[in-house]
Amino acid sequence: MDADVIIVGGGIVGLSAARLLAAAGARTVVIERARVGAEASTAAAGMVAPQAETAEDSPLLELALRGRDHHLALAPALEAETGLSVDLACRGLIELAFTGEDLRRLEARRSWQTRRGLAAEALGPAEVRESEPNVNPAVCGGLYIPGDRCVDNVRLVRALAASAVARGASIVTGRPVTGLVVESGVVAGVQAAAEAFRAPVVINAMGAWASQLAGDPLPPPVEPVRGHIVAFDMAPALLRHVVCSPRGYLVPRADGRTLAGSTTERAGFDKIVTAAGLGTVLGIALEIAPILGDVPVADSWVGLRPGTPDGLPVIGPGMLPGLFHAAGLYRNGILMGPLVGEIVAGLVRGLASPVDLAPFSVTRFAAGRPQLVPERVD
Ligand SMILES: Cc1cc2nc3c(=O)[nH]c(=O)nc-3n(C[C@H](O)[C@H](O)[C@H](O)COP(=O)(O)OP(=O)(O)OC[C@H]3O[C@@H](n4cnc5c(N)ncnc54)[C@H](O)[C@@H]3O)c2cc1C
Repeated sequence: MDADVIIVGGGIVGLSAARLLAAAGARTVVIERARVGAEASTAAAGMVAPQAETAEDSPLLELALRGRDHHLALAPALEAETGLSVDLACRGLIELAFTGEDLRRLEARRSWQTRRGLAAEALGPAEVRESEPNVNPAVCGGLYIPGDRCVDNVRLVRALAASAVARGASIVTGRPVTGLVVESGVVAGVQAAAEAFRAPVVINAMGAWASQLAGDPLPPPVEPVRGHIVAFDMAPALLRHVVCSPRGYLVPRADGRTLAGSTTERAGFDKIVTAAGLGTVLGIALEIAPILGDVPVADSWVGLRPGTPDGLPVIGPGMLPGLFHAAGLYRNGILMGPLVGEIVAGLVRGLASPVDLAPFSVTRFAAGRPQLVPERVD
């Protein structure tokens, strides 16, 4: 199959890029190993929370804040286009403090965020309980971030895929890509077992597997970071806001479930749900809302975050003409994935990125590569 652009990986990033490229008239093919949204993009909790997640001095801050704005425009656009609501919540996020140290940390966050013109309000313990009557009475304060929110990431993936197809993209599922096809030093497509797909542009949107595209001279050093989620079934809803503690979070879903997360585990590509992982997440959930002790557990699962050594994504051109990376979004890929898809689709079309991509270039890893020829030691 010949195309203008091949996108490897049908997660939130790949699908977001596909719908924009297809709309711009590029013949776009997404090649997905399993099924659309098979991995982190549907395993995630769906927080769209740049202010709760990002530090003041992080190179991610601008991308994260723009990622949140992008969701505000994307949700109604997708609903108008596909008829699917992605349940982008509008009630904000509350971070809880249980100790004096937690309070100091939240105050520091409130201070730099308000200095930057971002809305963040300190809450006393009574105000926290008034906003969220089901949280632990032991809270000693909180921080209300009205702009942070959550989205139903499973619905979002479905809507992105429907939009991409409606705009003319092809999605090929059940087809693991094994490597790049490179001719005369430039990208000419990808190989998927015995089948070659030809295109002059390939976008690596392979999530936690992004380091595994054979033929890439400098693959992004992405590694899987496992996270457990537990879903509780409770109607009426237990919480109005996303509620975070220093250890984890509870995310209310419009479908009546409340998701609790998560763990941060280096366990390779192993996707088993473990007793230890569940124990950690249940502990997080019960600390935030002890009332959950009486609520049925509806489901549990794990997902693999695409982590990088410095915690920053890899976005931009690769080391071969025609190769682009959109990978390594770690714990904020739902927040930033749609924007990153748009940015990389723009790069393919020769458009400038609205955000400085220098901190996210794959070349930052070039110096740390193992040397092919060992240096002589005399
Ligand atoms: C437990 C958990 C909670 C999270 N919570 C949040 C949150 O609240 N907010 C937030 O912003 N982010 C969250 N994240 C992070 C977010 O889920 C990820 O950053 C994001 O989904 C990454 O999207 P992606 O498209 O890059 O990767 P993925 O969704 O993993 O998609 C990559 C796709 O590539 C496919 N693929 C891999 N190899 C090949 C191959 N060889 N050939 C073809 N296809 C291939 C895979 O099958 C997969 O479908 C969470 C993640 C986890 C695990």
